[in-house]
Amino acid sequence: MIGQFGIARATLGLVVVTLLLCLVIGCGNRGGDVERRFLLVGLDGLEWSAVEPLLEKGRLPNLQALMDRGVWCRLRSLEPKRKSPVIWTTMATGKLPDKHGISDYFDPTTKKLLTSNVRSARTFWDILGERGHTVTVIGWLVSWPAEEVNGYMVTDYFRYPPKPDRPLPEKLTYPDELLAEIEPLRVVNKSIADSEVERFFNLANAMSGEEAQRLPVAEMFREMRAISDLDGHIEQFKDFFAADRTFMAVAQHIIRKRPTDVCIVYLRGTDSVSHKFWAAGWPGDVGVEVAETDLRVFGETVERYYEYADEMLGELVAEFGDGATIMVCSDHGFEGPRSPNERGGIKDHGPLGVFVLAGAGIRSVGEIEETSVRDITPTILELFGLPIGDDMDGVVMMEAFEEGYLRAHPVRKIPTYEIPEEEK
Ligand SMILES: [Zn+2]
Repeated sequence: MIGQFGIARATLGLVVVTLLLCLVIGCGNRGGDVERRFLLVGLDGLEWSAVEPLLEKGRLPNLQALMDRGVWCRLRSLEPKRKSPVIWTTMATGKLPDKHGISDYFDPTTKKLLTSNVRSARTFWDILGERGHTVTVIGWLVSWPAEEVNGYMVTDYFRYPPKPDRPLPEKLTYPDELLAEIEPLRVVNKSIADSEVERFFNLANAMSGEEAQRLPVAEMFREMRAISDLDGHIEQFKDFFAADRTFMAVAQHIIRKRPTDVCIVYLRGTDSVSHKFWAAGWPGDVGVEVAETDLRVFGETVERYYEYADEMLGELVAEFGDGATIMVCSDHGFEGPRSPNERGGIKDHGPLGVFVLAGAGIRSVGEIEETSVRDITPTILELFGLPIGDDMDGVVMMEAFEEGYLRAHPVRKIPTYEIPEEEK
């Protein structure tokens, strides 16, 4: 009797636990999952006011193609601090920093770089993976150390080569074995020839020393300094370029050799290049003086990098395949430095990022109402027919979806996707 009672109680307990778990993670709705292949390309700091004139000139054909067959909008960033690690974590979780725990680059008390193990909210790739969708995550900010995913994770730290005083950290990839396979794909700035980057600059237009010497003294000094800084700027450019080249090579390798349902690629070059060269491109809009040499040499660098980013987008879309759903987003826009002491800092960031989405079930109506970086995760969950967490701070971008799709997959909610502490 006692034994039977014990079993009955255990069974009852199991049923209760299962029911609770179902309530929490929304199982039982598994049949509602939408099968789709999904590519997300994150372009840090991509700014509409720079994108739009390039679109008009036909210089961003791949972005244009997605905009033509899908929807696009201005994507409201986080205020007041537009710090990329904070925002990309909000995009990945649908939650504001008070819930996801990544409030800055550094921990305010320990001054250590904030890392993925500090994040206190689950990501959309984790949720999708749990539902059986295979995922690849490449380069996403604050993704080191690599977490276990239902697929592959290449962390943001992978791009840094080992140095004698800085060996490679652990957990650069998940699984660990992936590291040896992709290490040869890492591009370092020293391996980039000048000829590979010359398309981004007008070096032939640089002011000559003789020309500078004919200027009034103050201007002469400014130009001479700008001339002597040219090589350094190009070296720094190579560093950003190497990072994007690295993550592109890894993405292409994984898409070809180890394809997954979902592929997420983060590229930082658009932001890095803007911090460095925005003032040379839009000198009238910024509060800093720009040397004539910089205007001549770097005046088109940001625009040309945007074209390069568009090429990378095109390659990823082509590689990932027709019929996939494609999302492009940036965490914030860009407006350039307002004063010399803001130069290069986060104050250069603008309030509105870029969002484009195209694929099955998505309307092809062009511009829709402004949305927020908080809405990325809820919208991705809806793309897969999954409920959104009531504890998320964003909403599904309803205007992006076709009516028929929403009828077949009405937005559902569950209390949370988070796993209670005692069950972790
Ligand atoms: Zn930035």
